[in-house]
Amino acid sequence: MSTLRFEALKEAINRNAVIITETDRRSAIFGENVFNQTTMMQSLTKDAYKSVMAAIESGSKINRAIADQIASAMKEWALAKGVTHYTHWFQPLTGATAEKHDAFFETIGNGQAIEKFGGGQLVQQEPDASSFPNGGIRNTFEARGYTAWDPTSPAFIYGTTLCIPTVFVAYTGEALDYKTPLLRALQAVDSAATAVAKYFDKNVKKVNASLGWEQEYFLIDNGLANSRPDIVMTGRTLLGHSPAKGQQLDDHYFGSIPTRALNFMMDLEVECMKLGIPVKTRHNEVAPNQFELAPIYEETNLAVDHNSLLMDVMGKIASRHNLKVLLHEKPFAGVNGSGKHNNWSLGTDTGINLLGPGKTPMSNLQFLTFFINTIKAINDNEELMRAGIASASNDHRLGANEAPPAIMSVFIGEQLTAVLKELEGVTDGKLSPKEKTDLKLNVVGKIPEILLDNTDRNRTSPFAFTGNKFEFRAVGSKANCANPMTILNTIVAKQLVDFKQEVDKLIKKKDLKKDEAIFNVLREYIKQSKNILFEGNGYGEEWEKEAKKRGLSNNKTTPEALKVKVSDKNLRLFEEMGVMNKIEAEARYEIEIEEYVMHIQIEGRVLGDIARNHVIPTAIKYQNTLINNVSGLKELYGSDFKKYAAEQMEIIEEISNHIGKINAKVNEMTEARKKANAIEDIVKRAEDYCFKVKPMFDDIRYSCDKLELLVDDELWPLTKYRELLFTR
Ligand code: ADP
Ligand code: MG
Repeated sequence: MSTLRFEALKEAINRNAVIITETDRRSAIFGENVFNQTTMMQSLTKDAYKSVMAAIESGSKINRAIADQIASAMKEWALAKGVTHYTHWFQPLTGATAEKHDAFFETIGNGQAIEKFGGGQLVQQEPDASSFPNGGIRNTFEARGYTAWDPTSPAFIYGTTLCIPTVFVAYTGEALDYKTPLLRALQAVDSAATAVAKYFDKNVKKVNASLGWEQEYFLIDNGLANSRPDIVMTGRTLLGHSPAKGQQLDDHYFGSIPTRALNFMMDLEVECMKLGIPVKTRHNEVAPNQFELAPIYEETNLAVDHNSLLMDVMGKIASRHNLKVLLHEKPFAGVNGSGKHNNWSLGTDTGINLLGPGKTPMSNLQFLTFFINTIKAINDNEELMRAGIASASNDHRLGANEAPPAIMSVFIGEQLTAVLKELEGVTDGKLSPKEKTDLKLNVVGKIPEILLDNTDRNRTSPFAFTGNKFEFRAVGSKANCANPMTILNTIVAKQLVDFKQEVDKLIKKKDLKKDEAIFNVLREYIKQSKNILFEGNGYGEEWEKEAKKRGLSNNKTTPEALKVKVSDKNLRLFEEMGVMNKIEAEARYEIEIEEYVMHIQIEGRVLGDIARNHVIPTAIKYQNTLINNVSGLKELYGSDFKKYAAEQMEIIEEISNHIGKINAKVNEMTEARKKANAIEDIVKRAEDYCFKVKPMFDDIRYSCDKLELLVDDELWPLTKYRELLFTR
């Protein structure tokens, strides 16, 4: 085994960068492989084009004849680009993307064949995808599920395949994927936000939620990554001693990008350009060999698809460069983990960012309306927000003093805090003309100036306002953004519906003017949302205590965090907003909890295997060398030998102690797993895995890592942290 490590190292050290030269301007290749609006305009009849645009903008149906036309145009466009296959591309509840390729090719008798692709094949397919998790939906109702074209996310070509973004639903209508509830949540927030935006501008017809994700990842030499069974099997290292140098010098962060990594990034970015993914920013992150990539924000559904596609493409491009992308939230202990900040806002079809301050008092009141409603939504649903980012891998990061804690809070900066304070003092009921003028000039009117020099940044906040958007920072690097985005947009939708009702009631019953009513409702929201606002250090212990006093949840583990997804309150919320019915919500809960169990189970098995079959035999081998040495010394020096063999004998003992501990713990862990596996109730099983099995990982790792320090480097089979993190 140690030969694998050294061979991998030799190869890694001798690798040359795969040099990428860009011949075209990026703007010229952008969207080249996307069946986008321009392509459609060129290749569709006017009727067909109008029909697709209407489907995109208002969700109207596309009839069969038009679908045939679109399919045929798509096929011609794709064939001209050398495409041979098509696939309905979807996002099952594994969180990854799925595709099953079919050739355009069809036989027509007489030994002849043609390329064929009709409206039927475009609009709907029935993949035999019965092995995807469905949380019992399909067992209970109907065995089959189908995929249906989502025209709001354009078809694209990857390699030689035409990919058609689709939803995945059961024949009974229940969603079997992440996209369907997201589309419903976006619909809900559109309708609720449009109604509120109409207070300020009657011409608003649609509000789009926007998302700009920032993807963090590690980039490791492929050979080195493959030499570690834990990375191969679980995406992270389950053991490994910290190197002498980690990230303490901060010499990697924003530093010059290593050549191999840079060429990978260029290659990836070119591919992204062709796929219409508007990537813009790249830089080194805090940990060694950690990087970040960020696009220009897009409409949320498209942004989610683009992020899912990106995660897939990253892996493929990396292998061309003999690199491996690690998307896991915590691939290495002791250095920073990876997240995926979700920058989110709401924008109108009239071009207004509802979370961006405007130029007039009225537009700033609009800003404050959406700003305060968002805060209120998080305040009332903090625990659900936490549930939306829960996973076995993200548990390592949240609350590990490097990432936002498991406690949700909102950071808005000193100046906006002062604005809210002023608004809190607004008179109950009708406002005097003086108060109105004063508010408009001195409070609401001052907002743009305030934000211009708002350099206030708090890196420790999970949900921070950053000038013209909120940034949800606790999302995991590996996560499908659909899940947190479904939750965020649902709770904001619900909040805006409630807000509109309250304002309308005040206008009607108390005879208040529109702006008076808005001020009145916002004042109450500010009072009710104080608990969620926090400007201090989110990593500190004091905050944990303070948050507890405030009654905020602090669910550190996934089994604890997920529960709230199926609370009565939240089942009602999803149902009321038309996002998920009870069956769909419960199915997702079950799938996520089961996924948690499987992850910990696999990690336990892999760790047990490495500890027993790699670490212990190596330690024994080295111990034998020491024993031989001690016997030799005894032969040489007789009873005097201890003078020369004391150190060795100490190490021999230490090794035995660690071996003993590892063996005992691995046995104990295996027994605990067996016990857990026998528990029928999946929630209780998850708790066992979380609180009984997982804690033993640390003990096993501790002794293995100590052995790594004791054993001869030449013998050690597992590629070490310094080699994984500093080989460039
Ligand atoms: P930062 O200083 O946090 O890096 P940036 O302005 O560079 O801020 O933006 C970071 C991310 O936020 C980018 O991915 C960007 O596309 C996204 N973003 C900017 N404006 C919006 C918006 N209105 N809605 C959603 N995302 C946005
Ligand atoms: Mg950011």
